[in-house]
Amino acid sequence: MPLFEYRCESCGHVFEQLILKGSPEPTCPACGASTVEKLLSMFAVSSESTQQRSRERFGATRRVKAEAERREREHYRTDHHDD
Ligand SMILES: [Zn+2]
Repeated sequence: MPLFEYRCESCGHVFEQLILKGSPEPTCPACGASTVEKLLSMFAVSSESTQQRSRERFGATRRVKAEAERREREHYRTDHHDD
């Protein structure tokens, strides 16, 4: 779907506009200005959600790793005392 995101250069309003062949230039629905800047919305959205997913994965991995390291240290101390 040729859905594009635009930001109004006049008032800063961001809106999505479906652009079909022969569609007129989009205008800001908030103030009616035709000075709108096309944003790379598809890229921005997918990039943002990818970053969020990788942050969540990274956080979970870190917690698991920290837990494993803690157990390892305790195990090592126990072994050391027994020795
Ligand atoms: Zn506007």
